[in-house]
Amino acid sequence: MSKPPSLKYSHAARRLRDLGAHLARQGGGHEIWRCGCGEHQTALPRHTVSAYVVGQIGKRLPCLGEEWWR
Ligand SMILES: [Zn+2]
Repeated sequence: MSKPPSLKYSHAARRLRDLGAHLARQGGGHEIWRCGCGEHQTALPRHTVSAYVVGQIGKRLPCLGEEWWR
């Protein structure tokens, strides 16, 4: 598996949507996204998504694949 990159919010949100995830609710400074399978959710920061968080999202939404950002 390659190392996750940091992403702009807009890129991360588009990829999540393309993979069947959707915005479930707004938090403070972040959003909660739920995957298409309905069993997983993750926080998505509204600004830059750090490489660390990109990796965490892959672990929290395993149904999207660890390289979900590609
Ligand atoms: Zn899932």
